[in-house]
Amino acid sequence: MSTESTLRGDIVEVGRRMYARGYTASNDGNISLRLGPERLLMTPKSVCKGFMTPDMMCITDLEGRKLQGDRDPSSEMLMHLEVYRQRPDVQAVVHAHPPTATGFAVAGIPLDRAVLAEVLTTLGSIPIAEYATPSTRELPEAVRKYITAHDGMLLANHGALTVGGDVYAAYYKMETIEHFAKISLVARLLGRENLIAREEVRRLEQLRGTYGIAAPAPICADPDALGPGLGGPAFIDPNDSATCQVVQAPAGGGQRLVPNAIDGRRRVGEEDAEIRLTYRELSALIEEAIKSLR
Ligand SMILES: [Zn+2]
Repeated sequence: MSTESTLRGDIVEVGRRMYARGYTASNDGNISLRLGPERLLMTPKSVCKGFMTPDMMCITDLEGRKLQGDRDPSSEMLMHLEVYRQRPDVQAVVHAHPPTATGFAVAGIPLDRAVLAEVLTTLGSIPIAEYATPSTRELPEAVRKYITAHDGMLLANHGALTVGGDVYAAYYKMETIEHFAKISLVARLLGRENLIAREEVRRLEQLRGTYGIAAPAPICADPDALGPGLGGPAFIDPNDSATCQVVQAPAGGGQRLVPNAIDGRRRVGEEDAEIRLTYRELSALIEEAIKSLR
């Protein structure tokens, strides 16, 4: 178990990275983590997240009462408290306004298309919680609908929220969302967005177990599973909470875009088949190409 001073330092470091990457402007954003069964460590209100010091943090109980600290806790504390109430497994919460992801949140476009293997295995999909006035009771209510099934979401006309087993895990999901949003934007500007087939999405979901990824809900990539009408209400339970991660993925008839690793051979007629690469493989290829140009 990390000591309190280490955890204070971790929040300072995550705040520094968020500000350095432009995920927050001015005093935006907030970060919290569980310090113990009844205590939370949280960023204070009205400070720039890029220049915090460990002594600035507040300690509150799970009701938000301040137990320790010279400053008052974050103005978005209610949203953090709601996450800890709904998700006993969550140890840390990060909120920021990364510009590309927030652009999608403003446009009302969820990041729910089956496009990147890593995003599917880690986050599944990234829905949009309905607009709510920041720092009021409305915001935790909007977040509640999705937080039981998702580790990351967009907040309509506001920003993004991520959670994790520690503060770095929560922060890295924020990086993943912003990165995914940038890639999605570029693909849409280029005019094509090839989606990963539903069958492949199922295979990727099975990898969660292989890699020990603890997702809070399964992926629903099959529209039939959503009940009558695509995206119908069957994936929302009677308490108005999401029960699965809805992903837009076409039925591919069992066809893969790359041959199975096991038989590795190209089949007849596949010479012109499209090759699908993971983001990591694509990055490596681009890096190689740039090196050879120098
Ligand atoms: Zn905010």
